[in-house]
Amino acid sequence: MPTTTAVNFDPTSPSDAQAAERFRNLLDIAPDPILEVDAAGRIVLANKEAEKLFGWTRTELAGQPIEMLLPERFRQEHATHRAHYSVRPKTRPMGTGLDLYALRKDGTECAIDINLSPVSAAGGRVMCIIRDISERRHTEEQIQILNQNLERRTEELAAVNQQLELRNLEVERANVLKSEFLASVSHELRTPLHAIIGFSELLAEETAGDLNSKQKRFTSHIHQGANHLLELINDILDLSKIEAGQLELRQETFALGSAMSEVLSSIRPLAFHKSIELADEIQPDLSIFADRIRFKEIIFNLFSNAIKFTREGGTITVRSANLPDQIRISVRDTGIGIAKEEHESIFQTFRQVASTTKGVREGTGLGLAITKRLVEQHGGQIWVESELGAGSEFLFTLPRPVVTGGDEQPDFTPTVVLVVEDDESSRELVVSYLESEGFKL
Ligand code: ADP
Repeated sequence: MPTTTAVNFDPTSPSDAQAAERFRNLLDIAPDPILEVDAAGRIVLANKEAEKLFGWTRTELAGQPIEMLLPERFRQEHATHRAHYSVRPKTRPMGTGLDLYALRKDGTECAIDINLSPVSAAGGRVMCIIRDISERRHTEEQIQILNQNLERRTEELAAVNQQLELRNLEVERANVLKSEFLASVSHELRTPLHAIIGFSELLAEETAGDLNSKQKRFTSHIHQGANHLLELINDILDLSKIEAGQLELRQETFALGSAMSEVLSSIRPLAFHKSIELADEIQPDLSIFADRIRFKEIIFNLFSNAIKFTREGGTITVRSANLPDQIRISVRDTGIGIAKEEHESIFQTFRQVASTTKGVREGTGLGLAITKRLVEQHGGQIWVESELGAGSEFLFTLPRPVVTGGDEQPDFTPTVVLVVEDDESSRELVVSYLESEGFKL
């Protein structure tokens, strides 16, 4: 009985001829190149796709060893390999998934995948279904390259991270060293500076003998210069202590009014000197919870800036607000103001607004940086509301003091004082001092 396989049919029989025709058509419409190889490794059949892939015609291929379609380097190995094609096909499906390179007639190569099916009833012939997998190979290679790149990047990143960690440690250590260095240098510098300031004061008082006007001027320069240096050193020391986390706050609950009057009495002469009015609008009986000395430093810094940047005849107003969960204090001036874009930067170290200072250059540029850190260490916030030419208002918050029942409230009944002085400005000065101390005039 005739079969439909390619080998056992009789082309002279009409039904076999039809079957052969159908078989050839089938082979030629197959999307993959197909070859049939006999037991000796010779090509006995090739379809259209095989012609297309290899560039040889079927006639050229017929009877040729299959190795002609392989690049030189695979030929020998392949010939031995081929010997096993049809030995134990069931237990050793040799060709399945075999990745190879094919050689075309024009000498070019392409990656292929061969699927071998031994045709057991045909005396060791083997059907090879070939697939051009150049693109897949290419993609796989690309993926491999990408993976390798990724691995390299990950390794590089890990190395950078490690370096960064080391750097961080170094920076931390350097910071601590810097603070320690500053602390000891500042201390060493302050002692001789106090001597310079003290002796220049003594000279200016002429206790050691009279000075001519030039000598007086020179002495005053020495005194001013030394004072400025001292201020700078104190600021740097303060800042380095804060940054090194060495500044300990001694927080206590105290009346805002009393601390404010202490600051006001030290700032009043400066304001008086520039005919600046100081308006105290705080609620004196309001209690705050802060380090008293540091709180006064905050207020003092804000006041001295306000005086520095306010023209003669201006006004500085200090206010307090008792908010639900914090106390807000503000120092407002009628001075030169600060442009919006500088509102953040002025709180950085050594930042002075060149355009707004307009020649006022007596500061260190550290005041607000220290003030901000002090406020924040108290758990508060500080910011500025200002416009160029329209004055500035510096506001800061402090957490409300914890109310512990039974605390005694300080006695705020003011003592009445009568001031008798015929010189108006001196009277005003005395009055402002006494008022700031809580006396009623
Ligand atoms: P400085 O020692 O220069 O006062 P600060 O840190 O206290 O340093 O202030 C930084 C800068 O912020 C000042 O140089 C000034 O440009 C600006 N500034 C601070 N306070 C005021 C203010 N009340 N009015 C206008 N400008 C101010």
